[in-house]
Amino acid sequence: MTHKSWAEPWRIKVVEPLRMTTRPERELAIERAGYNTFLLDADDVYIDLLTDSGTSAMSDRQWSAMMIGDEAYAGSRSFTKLQGAVRRYYGFEHVIPTHQGRGAEHILSRLLIKPGDHIPGNMYFTTTRAHQELAGGTFHDVIIDEAHDADSEHEFKGNIDISKLRALIDEVGASRIPYVAVAATVNMAGGQPISLANMREVRELTRPLGIRVILDGARAVENAWFIQQREPGQGRRLVAEILHDMCALADGMTMSAKKDSLANIGGWLALRDDDIAEGARNLVVLYEGLHTYGGLAGRDMEAIAVGIEESVSEDHIRSRIGQVIYLGEKLMDAGIPIVRPIGGHAVFLDAAAMLPHIPRDQFPAQALAAALYVESGIRSMERGAVSAGRDEKGENRYPALELVRLTIPRRVYTQAHMDIVAESVIEIFDIREKVTGLDIVYEPAHLRFFQARFEPVKRLVGTTPRAHAIGSLALVGE
Ligand SMILES: *Cc1c(COP(=O)(O)O)cnc(C)c1O
Repeated sequence: MTHKSWAEPWRIKVVEPLRMTTRPERELAIERAGYNTFLLDADDVYIDLLTDSGTSAMSDRQWSAMMIGDEAYAGSRSFTKLQGAVRRYYGFEHVIPTHQGRGAEHILSRLLIKPGDHIPGNMYFTTTRAHQELAGGTFHDVIIDEAHDADSEHEFKGNIDISKLRALIDEVGASRIPYVAVAATVNMAGGQPISLANMREVRELTRPLGIRVILDGARAVENAWFIQQREPGQGRRLVAEILHDMCALADGMTMSAKKDSLANIGGWLALRDDDIAEGARNLVVLYEGLHTYGGLAGRDMEAIAVGIEESVSEDHIRSRIGQVIYLGEKLMDAGIPIVRPIGGHAVFLDAAAMLPHIPRDQFPAQALAAALYVESGIRSMERGAVSAGRDEKGENRYPALELVRLTIPRRVYTQAHMDIVAESVIEIFDIREKVTGLDIVYEPAHLRFFQARFEPVKRLVGTTPRAHAIGSLALVGE
């Protein structure tokens, strides 16, 4: 029997009640949070689309695996299981657990980057670039131009522009490039995939020059699904096979198990080279924990090992991305400007297009995320100028894309929740000219988007006196 629609390939065994809030409660909550959705109490949130990181629902198999976690300090049986799962599905020989993805990035950056080095990558990721810079390196974005264009329908917007990469190699020399950082899928471009063909080109260019390729595998399974759907000749292959091929084109990977691997915490660094792996094992003891637990409990490693296996199941990945596409298509049908094609883990609202009346230095995406929360209790995240931070001169970076990310946790919400989300965004869109910009009033030194605080702009141009008196968000709809 074949159906036109798909349904979630699981049923619910345990439920977690959601708290509904009133609009006055939410207005107070967002003010207390400095108009930054990261600073809201989760209890004040109805549908939490802040991130898909560590927010997945674990399966009954994962929970039961946790009970048999081996908490031995050294040589834990649970480490052996994790190592086995990574070797089997990702194909790397050396596996070093870390407390989460940035732990792996930290160790890799310290190990491979010397001050003055250059690291090309397909668009930056916040923690990845921060660790590259802390190690003295300079990041260079070599993604194709289409990735910076919210309207481009390119099927592999995560691809690396080979001519940009070649130009950088010619400019700084291969010896100053320790590795190319290849992300799959590209989070900051809207969850856009890189093709297998492009990864092969990168490998062919870099191998003779002795430049390594390091895969950011946080959402590589999701990337593999896009390759299966879109890349010529890949349609009949299993996601697990494609994942293996992707990894075969890299010398190592950093991983956040909080994404694809369906775990609430964890990560790893995986490598082929014996010497680099030895160096990484030496460093992990300093910063994370012994090389057979790397900051994780034995039970965490059990949950990740089972999660890896579940993550490559065809049914799982089809419905995981299918749910994201369902939400994205609903919004597109309503005329909401979103990044296309729809990405693997999130729908990205084009805040610059939605709120053209808010100048970039008043952070339209930050304002939209705050307004959506006040309107509906839905929590989203800014991915624009606030996330991009400041350049060496201390000036705001203004990336081409000014986005709000609606990130879908894996196996957590149902299609009915997606309907509510779509209706709420459409409501905001209908009253969009009432949303006003924000001023930054506190800014931390690193990764400012996590902790920065804002206030509605006081110097209002082109708004009514009443808007001025009441501030911005109090006026957003009723
Ligand atoms: C989440 C993420 C990381 C960092 O991983 P953490 O587990 O959050 O430390 C790195 N790269 C990408 C693409 C990510 O999405």
